[in-house]
Formats: sequence, C-alpha cells, structure tokens
Amino acid sequence: MRVLLSVLATVGLLAQTPAPKVQEGPLRAHLAFLADDLLEGRGTGQRGAELTVRYLETQLQVLGLKPANGASYRQPVTLLGLKTLVDQSTLSFLGGGACATPKFGTDIVFGAGVARAEQTFDAPLVFVGFGIDAPEWRWDDYKGLDLRGKVLLMMVNEPAPTAEEPGLFDGPDLSRYGRWTTKLELAAKQGAAGVLLIHTTPSATYDWPVVRTGWSGERFSLAKGPVGTPIQGWVTEALARALVKQGGQDLDALRTKAQRRDFQPVALDLNLKGTLRSTVRTVDQFNVAGVVPGRDPALKDELVIYTAHWDHLGKGSALAVDTHPSQAPGHETDTIYNGAVDNASGCAALLAMTQAAIHAPARRSQMFLFVCAEEQGLLGSKAYAETPLWPLAKTAADLNLDSLNFVAPTRDISLAFGERSTLGELGAAVAKAVGLKVAASGPDTAGGYFRSDHYSFVQAGVPALSVGGGSEYLGADPKALQAKAAAFGPRYHQVTDEYDPTWDLRGMVQQAQFAFDLGQAVGNSATKPTFKVVK
Ligand SMILES: [Zn+2]
Repeated sequence: MRVLLSVLATVGLLAQTPAPKVQEGPLRAHLAFLADDLLEGRGTGQRGAELTVRYLETQLQVLGLKPANGASYRQPVTLLGLKTLVDQSTLSFLGGGACATPKFGTDIVFGAGVARAEQTFDAPLVFVGFGIDAPEWRWDDYKGLDLRGKVLLMMVNEPAPTAEEPGLFDGPDLSRYGRWTTKLELAAKQGAAGVLLIHTTPSATYDWPVVRTGWSGERFSLAKGPVGTPIQGWVTEALARALVKQGGQDLDALRTKAQRRDFQPVALDLNLKGTLRSTVRTVDQFNVAGVVPGRDPALKDELVIYTAHWDHLGKGSALAVDTHPSQAPGHETDTIYNGAVDNASGCAALLAMTQAAIHAPARRSQMFLFVCAEEQGLLGSKAYAETPLWPLAKTAADLNLDSLNFVAPTRDISLAFGERSTLGELGAAVAKAVGLKVAASGPDTAGGYFRSDHYSFVQAGVPALSVGGGSEYLGADPKALQAKAAAFGPRYHQVTDEYDPTWDLRGMVQQAQFAFDLGQAVGNSATKPTFKVVK
C-alpha cells in the first residue's frame, strides 16, 4: 500500500482521488464506549479520566499513528484541584441588622480561587456593575476604587449596545470583556477578596443548574496559574436582590445605573463573614496526540491539527443527586455525567477520522489531538498552546470538534467564526464541492467563540475554528428533527446527556467527513491559512 501511495503521489493522481471516507461503524462504537457509564463521565482528576486516556492512546497505537510526544502519546498537564467542603464551610452575610446564610447549591455556589485549605473572611461587599475595565471602549466600572480586601458583587455579560453606539462591546456579539472569566482575572490582579456573579439566564445564556453543576464538584485550574480571588462564586438573582436590599440598596436601580459609563461602585452595608474550607491537590491530566506524517518532503514539517476535548464532568456529588428528581424523571439516582454529545461525539469522530487519515496521508502532517480539561476552562488546549508538541509557526490550522450533530443529516454545515481567517473561504469551497451550504451565523451572544478549544489556538496565533453541525435537517419531518435537536438544551451539562443507540448518526458522520475534507484541503494546499481579523 505504501509503495502504491508513493507512486500515486509521484504521478499526481492522489490529488484527484476522493478523500477516504469516515465510517459510521467505528464512530458509533467509539461513541457508545466513551459515553458508557463504565467511563464514569470522563471527569477531570477521576478514574474515568484515566480509563479514557488509556483508551485513546491504545486506539492511536492500534491505528499506527506516530506518538506526538517523543515515544509517548501523552502530554502531561499539571492541574490544581479545589473542592469546596460545603458541610465544613460557614459563610453568612451580615448587615442591615440581619444575618443571611444562603443555601449552597440552591441560592449560591462558591469556591476558593487560591490553593488554601482554610480561609476566614470578614469582607465588605461592593456592587461594581459589570466589573469591566475596558480602555478600548473607555469603560471603567471601578473608577479608581481600591479593590483590596473587598468582595465584589457584579453582573455577568456586558453593557448593551445603544442607538448612539451600536458597536459598543462588539455589538450583539459577546466581547472578551463580557466573559465572567475575564472579570475574575481582573479582580484577582487587583487584590479583591472575592467575586460573586449575579446569575440571570439571559445574561449567563444558561440556566442556574448549569452553574450549580459546574461549581458542585472539584474545580481545576492550571497549576502554574494564574490564581483567582480567595473566594469566587455565583448567586441567584433572587439572592442578589435580597442581599442588595439587606445592604440598603435596590438591585434594579443599581443595574440601571450600571448600563452607563458614569456608573460609580456602590458600597453595600453588608459583610461576608465566615470560614471557607476546601480540599487542595495537584494532579496530572493528559492531552493525547498522534501524528500521521505528511507525504510531501517540502511540506511535511508543517502540521494540521484536529482537536476534540475528551473530558466531561465526571461523577457528580450527592448535591447533584438531590436536585435531579425535579428536572430529570428517571434519573433520580444517576450520578454520572456521561457527556455523550459533549464530547464523546467529538472524540469518536476524531478517532473515525484518524482511521481514514492513516490510509491517505496529506502533503502536510496531521495531528489528532484529544485535549483534557476543556470543561474547566480550555486548560488542556491552553497548556498545549503554551508548550506545543510541534512548532506553532509551522502549524497551519486547528479544526476543532465539540458536541456533534446526533439528529440527522443536514443540508448545511456551520463554520462559525471562519470569516476571521482564510479558513472560512477554504471551508466554503470544500462545502460547495461536497454539496453542502454554509449556515449563516447569527450574532455570537453566548460567546461561543471563546468557549471551545479552537480559541486557545487562535490566541496562540494559529488560524482555527470549530466545525459545527448544520440545522437544516433532511428527513420526512424536519420540524420533528428540529424539536429533537432543541430537546438537547436542558440536557446540556446534566446527567441526561446520554448515548441513545437509536440515534441516526449520518449527520455526525457527515460533520466528521466535512471536518476531515477541510483538514485535507489545508493539508494539501500550497499555502497556509492566514488571519483576517483577530478579536
Ligand atoms: Zn461542555
């Protein structure tokens, strides 16, 4: 086969040979396995993670890929793990002649942002609007306030564009200033004692249960930093309203003021008081990567990367179980966050693509990279970008797959944010060649641009995008198929994101095939993609 391939390549026939096909059988088998209860939800720092990594590296070895890290398929990523000991933590809000002790999980979630097992607080609360300091928009919610030792109560998201300034904070798109992670980093740098984010579904773009799930278990960050504020968390809108009232103010009035540039931070007559106890540990997780070497002597030093995150939320806590009867009948005792769609689907697709790639190398080399700890803040891809296994200057592109189409084949495919590099044009050409139309992308109100692993590559200067599923389903009853897709909403980041053997996976195969075809186009083209606009 190898001899035949090189002969074909020499006479230039390979370019005309259709790209090898991604097979549904292996994709479905990988998906069923990775989403199985035996994998325990592939939780960061948990046993399920070890099984997943072992499975992925075994598959790459079986398929005959070159290990990407010397003799190993693994790239270690050292994480700091912090878990709130809810029963041993006592935190109250004192002020206005009252003492409120909200219930963890129901009203509030919080955790340490620094590696300390025990911390005591007696810190004043200040309402700081959106908690944004953005020189490029001439917007500063702090107005010189000394943040040291204070707990900042703030809104998530960003001020809405106005008639005078329709482009404010990137208009309808969420800008980086509107991300709550940006706000936490800023507060930590300024020495704040803590941050409490006010949840509303429209501003967060997800419901309270998603927040609760994310903050109930162990949370991770890169061990080498940056560190957060001593305490950080979220409060429900109802609790925020009650706390602000207890502190002598009115939440709605404060929120109205915060929509303006002249907003001033408002000190509340309220102190956060008590003790926060946490478990603290460092743990190694692994990116898993194998390479299919390129076949062109002049281009094989350059690389196309395909990524999918292998982690999900793992096995949940008793807290999570308590809250399930109301939202997931039939799952009252389920503690496993299987993450079938998010993102066993992406890993299964990547493995099936690997199987196609190994038989038909592109001119450039191709890396199949399964990153860890995406759900913890893109940590695995961030670590890769900081310590790449292949020079970034010789990395042509990253194509990411996260949460694939489990519904049905589609007429279209999504290349969201493709317009920010020439990958978009290339993707449109590939789509046209295979009879797919590129889905029109609406405003990025949820900040999807920042919320999957392609972003780590963009930040490191490598053109990247996530290949998304289409939404124009092909079938006898497209309405029913759309309803099936929409029904995933409440299952996002819940124990009910489970594999169903009756799923029609033709759409998933189509999406994987498209990502692979685009990867081949990048891998075989004379030039590398370039950026057009970088935000
Ligand atoms: Zn997720």
